[in-house]
Amino acid sequence: MSEHLRAEFEKYLARFGLKPRKLPSRQLREAGQRSVIGIKYEEAKARGDPMAESILIAYEKNRERDLAETRHPATIEIEETAKEVEATIRALPAFAGRFHDDVFVGEFPTGSVNCQTVKVDGGFLVLVNSGTLMMMQQVVTFLWRGNADDPNSKESLQAAEGVAEVLAAYVQHGDPYYGPKPLAGGMLGVAASLMTAAARKFVVAHEYGHILASHLSEPNVEPVKLETEVGRLDVLRKSYAQEFEADDIGYRLTLGVAANEDFDLAVIDAGYSDGLDAMRAGLSQKSLIAGPFVALTVDAILRRFYDSRRLAGGKVPPGDAHPPADERIEALLARCPGKGPRHSGFIKFPFMLLPSWERIVGVMTDRIFGEPPPPPAVEDNDQGDGAVWLDDIMRCVDVIRAGDYAAAALSLTDSFEKQRTIIEPDVDVVRRELVRAALGRPSDIGRTLLDRHRDRRAAEQYVESAARSPFAQFAGSVPGGPRLSVAGLADLGLNQEPKGLGLVQAVMEEETTKRASFGAEVHLLDAVLYAWRGERARSFASFQAALAAGVADLHHRLADFVVLEERALALGVELDIQKLLEVVGLNAIGDNKEAARRLARLVKDYTEYLGVPLGPMAQRMVDTQMQVE
Ligand SMILES: [Zn+2]
Repeated sequence: MSEHLRAEFEKYLARFGLKPRKLPSRQLREAGQRSVIGIKYEEAKARGDPMAESILIAYEKNRERDLAETRHPATIEIEETAKEVEATIRALPAFAGRFHDDVFVGEFPTGSVNCQTVKVDGGFLVLVNSGTLMMMQQVVTFLWRGNADDPNSKESLQAAEGVAEVLAAYVQHGDPYYGPKPLAGGMLGVAASLMTAAARKFVVAHEYGHILASHLSEPNVEPVKLETEVGRLDVLRKSYAQEFEADDIGYRLTLGVAANEDFDLAVIDAGYSDGLDAMRAGLSQKSLIAGPFVALTVDAILRRFYDSRRLAGGKVPPGDAHPPADERIEALLARCPGKGPRHSGFIKFPFMLLPSWERIVGVMTDRIFGEPPPPPAVEDNDQGDGAVWLDDIMRCVDVIRAGDYAAAALSLTDSFEKQRTIIEPDVDVVRRELVRAALGRPSDIGRTLLDRHRDRRAAEQYVESAARSPFAQFAGSVPGGPRLSVAGLADLGLNQEPKGLGLVQAVMEEETTKRASFGAEVHLLDAVLYAWRGERARSFASFQAALAAGVADLHHRLADFVVLEERALALGVELDIQKLLEVVGLNAIGDNKEAARRLARLVKDYTEYLGVPLGPMAQRMVDTQMQVE
């Protein structure tokens, strides 16, 4: 990419009254990033993807750099893609020797999914239709939600539906920003981003193919007029033969080889057996093979859409001069490296759309020309919520980075509380209040717990009455039907995996390796972190360490808690009044007198410590068991 030509590009835009994309405000970008990251993370986490936490870690690592960027994200994508293509050209002598021109790749509303090239003073401008590269990403993310082996499966049809919405927004607004924004995180996100990169690379590399094959610098090359919504462009005329040649070169550039036979298939083979890095490398190679077919399948579907409009007498943009996409696909399939689906299996992803093309064209027509679409249904992902918990976690990360562990512990304690429900074990309430008290924030454990018990009791009564309704009784008799019970309610509250803790932990580890000794605040922060992750023994050890480091402990509240928790750990029970009463009862019925006695004593000491009175029945049971010899 030539920097000199950037000025030429801006001059060219100005001729049509256009300007390069403007960057939104920092605040808007940060909010946008967080909502995207939050959705990606929750999507990956919901699938149990092992890479979910790394999404947050990568976000945190690149946050400042991304916010300091002065170019629009769409501009960055285009420029990065062009840089990559040029790097490939320079690395391959067969192409490097033929590359003599200055080129700049930029966004322009050409109205065609294929790039256009115009000649300007000092070189060539490759014009990518506005939104094309963004659109590729959204199409690919939907493709990865389908079942490539079965284009007629429910998932594949849903994926086709999503692609139709993306293409409708692309055609209508020249920018898929207005369409659905599918997001995938974790391994699925990695696979989708590798395939997106390959599809984008081919779109741009095809145009470099024309340049390398000197299609644009032959003396008799003549300009043709291309009508666009902003005016008429003089683009350079190319023959079908030249288009196929540009596809051939574009495919080799996408693969990163001088000849298709050079493509390293062993990397794909190793990916099937050699661990995560090898798997990623294999995925990448398979994506490169499939990339051009994503771009060309989109082209094929858009052509069918325009054909159907033309048949219906509608006004359509004049087609660009590229050969029909179906023929280009056929020609490239013959050059595809590898034997069989083991290597080229990802091609099935874009091809999954072909049996659904009529449906896709139908949906696009409805969206663009039909009735206004119904208001969007309630999204699965609550974006507002996603941004809120992530804001809390990032605030905590920021103060850890600033070395203020007390503020970090308090902030983590607050997010912990926000993400939990009234069904959580009461000992987690106690742990949070202890941390707050130790850090000088006023706290009244007994009061807080009593409020919680009242709310909890109200919720339980609601569930009990709901469970008595005839419908609930019917539902309960159906296998897999909803379980309406107090126990079920507790499950409901705690199945929620904590969000964002992997990031906090990673940042903590990174920061603490920089410091030789830790203050009590670090141990308190650890105690909250481990409590939230359900790692009781480590939370206990962190509280002990905080005490050893001389933490402020008014009235020995923390020291007394540590003693109680040590007893609970030894008895294998959790410090939760309701659960403790249950195990006292169970042991009493099972005639485990000694266990019942020790547990009853623990209940008595724990409730006295909290200042929470037991109900009369529970009190009698505890008293009785404590006296049993
Ligand atoms: Zn071309």
